[in-house]
Amino acid sequence: MAATSLICRECSSTYPLEAQFVCSRCFGPLEVAYAEHDASDVDSIRRRIQAGPRSIWRYADFLPLGAGSPTGSGEFATEAGLPAGGTPLVRADRLAERLGLREVWVKNDAANPTHSFKDRVVAVAAARAKELGFTTLACASTGNLAGAVAAAGAALGMPTYVFIPADLEEQKILSTGVYGANIVTVRGNYDDVNRLCTEIAGEREDWAFVNVNMRPYYAEGSKTLAYEIAEQLGWTVPDRIVAPIASGSLFTKIGKGFKEWIDLGLLEAAGTPSGLPAMSGAQAAGCNPVAAAFEAGQDVCRPVKPDTIAKSLAIGNPADGPYAIELARTTDGTISQVSDDEIREGIRLLAETTGIFTETAGGVTTATLKQLAEAGAIDPDERVVIVITGEGLKTLDVVRGTFECHEIDPRFEQFERVEGRTEVTV
Ligand SMILES: *Cc1c(COP(=O)(O)O)cnc(C)c1O
Ligand SMILES: [Zn+2]
Repeated sequence: MAATSLICRECSSTYPLEAQFVCSRCFGPLEVAYAEHDASDVDSIRRRIQAGPRSIWRYADFLPLGAGSPTGSGEFATEAGLPAGGTPLVRADRLAERLGLREVWVKNDAANPTHSFKDRVVAVAAARAKELGFTTLACASTGNLAGAVAAAGAALGMPTYVFIPADLEEQKILSTGVYGANIVTVRGNYDDVNRLCTEIAGEREDWAFVNVNMRPYYAEGSKTLAYEIAEQLGWTVPDRIVAPIASGSLFTKIGKGFKEWIDLGLLEAAGTPSGLPAMSGAQAAGCNPVAAAFEAGQDVCRPVKPDTIAKSLAIGNPADGPYAIELARTTDGTISQVSDDEIREGIRLLAETTGIFTETAGGVTTATLKQLAEAGAIDPDERVVIVITGEGLKTLDVVRGTFECHEIDPRFEQFERVEGRTEVTV
């Protein structure tokens, strides 16, 4: 399925596959369009995927690489860079039981090279940036993107500039700086950082900002989450996906990934009217523009000033917000918001029932699953997949004080006094 053009999501104007992200006619966002696959060829497409590497590059047929590049079919991309994707999908029976559900799976994208799902999107954007001849990789980041860009630049031999809000978690700054990135901390929130980067991208013509001028390519990387989940479930579609929303890119592209494979006949449609899984989005109450618009029955998001411990989701003016709302509505899905306390509880609940320690974004996702289960919004027989997008060690501070340690002298009778006193709090 070769990429053919960039297409405007609003007016369908098309553009060549270059570093452009807004429609010059209507200012709508651009996304990648593909030539149709030959549906009679489904078996050979499936075989080619199965013979591919255990990374996102097994889905190269569905990614926007190789178009007009000297290397031809995107082949270099499978050799260079970090091996993003191929993360575990684990069945979480104790979590399901705790919530009164039958079948819950955890897609653990903390298992990527820099411990968040951002390695997927960066791999695609960076590979396309190389094809287009860019010399420098850059990004506007809420945290995880900075680390992913810094590491990808190191792997590909490209210098990197990352722009982050100055109040970011220290763990995320430290785990970015080690790769030798130029780190610019901006006094402002993510939306300020993003505005600045849009301006810089206009001035520095040989810089590829992965989520600004390269955004259409970047966004395609998230489709691989849907492909992997389907493949790991034996080439089937789950009944529901629960995933976090910051800009809404990840959430909407998971939907696009399932739709492409269903349309092609690689997957059988789900039993829903849309044929897609019910798409349930998750936001923090302290940064809830998409959830608030969804709840109010509106189509567009009113921007907010973020104030939440879920910094990786702290985008107050989400570019893909309206498309996320549309996707949730057309799939009989939901978009919810959870408080900071619920986020902490969500982190603990996932950790104690699965052994998976997630950052705040995963706390938002797990807390949303809990909220939906308790509200009876999930049919107990549904097969649900929650998408855990980042690693708990990057936001360690938020779990401080959520459990106790018992200090003793090195004597047996003191141990006996504290034995069994560690309570499960969630
Ligand atoms: C970036 C990010 C997301 C979602 O980002 P979108 O802008 O909605 O694509 C979710 N979780 C984590 C941990 C992230 O870093
Ligand atoms: Zn347009």
